[in-house]
Amino acid sequence: MDGFLPTFVRRKFRPEKLKEPDYRVVPERIGDPRIAIIPLHDYPSMPFKCLVSLHDKVQIGQKIGWKGKEPFDVSVLSPISGIVKEIANHPVPSGSRVMCVVIEKKDSDIEMVRSENLVRIKDKKRVLQEAGIPLEYKALTERGVEAIVVNGTEFEPNLTSTYTLLWHRTHEVINGLKLLMNLFSIKQGIVCIERKNKELLDRVKEHAESSGVAVVKAERSYPESGNLHLLRYVLKGKKRVLKEGKVIFVRPQDLIAIRDALEEGKPYLEKYVTVSGSAIGNPKNLIVKIGTTFSEVLEKLDVSLRHLSCVIMGGPLMGIPQPTLHVPITQFTDGIWALFSVDLTKTHRSKVYSEGVCVRCAKCVDSCPASIVPNVIVDFLKKGLKDRALDIGLNLCIECGLCSYVCPAKIPLSLIIRTEKTPEAKR
Ligand code: SF4
Ligand code: SF4
Repeated sequence: MDGFLPTFVRRKFRPEKLKEPDYRVVPERIGDPRIAIIPLHDYPSMPFKCLVSLHDKVQIGQKIGWKGKEPFDVSVLSPISGIVKEIANHPVPSGSRVMCVVIEKKDSDIEMVRSENLVRIKDKKRVLQEAGIPLEYKALTERGVEAIVVNGTEFEPNLTSTYTLLWHRTHEVINGLKLLMNLFSIKQGIVCIERKNKELLDRVKEHAESSGVAVVKAERSYPESGNLHLLRYVLKGKKRVLKEGKVIFVRPQDLIAIRDALEEGKPYLEKYVTVSGSAIGNPKNLIVKIGTTFSEVLEKLDVSLRHLSCVIMGGPLMGIPQPTLHVPITQFTDGIWALFSVDLTKTHRSKVYSEGVCVRCAKCVDSCPASIVPNVIVDFLKKGLKDRALDIGLNLCIECGLCSYVCPAKIPLSLIIRTEKTPEAKR
């Protein structure tokens, strides 16, 4: 009967508690990868240009390409010094295949010259683009943005990489926010933190409020961390002074990159990543070079790759299962969830692997926070009726993954919907 209940009496869905690493533990920095795979663009239709050729020598921090439309293009940088081994289409964690440059590390005495280059650029907005920081430059420049909101929550219950960098680099996050606000003349800065993280909340408040940045508490309820959901906390009581279109969201990781680029001339080459799941004895947060493959990250944690059954980018709800471990950490990879092999002779096999037939239970409809009808949308998509799927809200999906999580038939609803959304509507 759940599916026939009106929205206001639907049950609030809470995923079960997973073992997650403690964000107060100092994250380990793993060394340079042997091979770095650098995507030249974020999704197939995004324009890009490659600036290197096969067998070229590249230096750490060197510009090897650019992506996006001028004048809002962003540089693509090499995270290591080495030789270009391949320029070809590769799978990336988002589930698509894009053009990538594969660089093999060579021990080299070439120092990072990039920082000098960044320091020499006079236009500070251009410094951010040249440092490879993915921001909404067009909106920041043209849309009259009134507030920048920092999403300090986690997208998945098993991830703590955002908390980790907020905890250990609070000052740099706030500093990065202030620099961004000054650069684009934006008056308001707001940081959203989950109410349950009292310690983190107090720490961020201490740094933020002395810098004139507001801190907003968000409730703990998945998927409150989605930007659209956070917006309602941000706009609460401020609706008259702040309009939805005048707010943009940034991630704490990007603010650290902004601070590093503007104050130290450092390009954006590293990422905080949570590695967890049943195959990881001791889930932890790592600082990893962008371009490092999932297999190298897992090898460095002594995970036996032969016994893995599934590796997911992200977590159990919104995560994307990876067809291969030869996919790189990108600027948008917050976590790796690695699972041990399941004994296929056991009865739970079907629960994990087999996609069944929709039983019309409407659990997906019930759990959908975007109030769309995932089973009907997927039905239309399977029949090739994308226009009809768009008509009933395909692009409104916030990619939370709850529909797939609750579906008793194990239909990968959110994966199908995410893949078919138009690129501009993707998260
Ligand atoms: S359709 Fe989209 S928004 Fe709705 S539950 Fe599925 S993934 Fe979440
Ligand atoms: S898609 Fe899954 S959750 Fe949705 S109605 Fe069908 S069986 Fe139920």
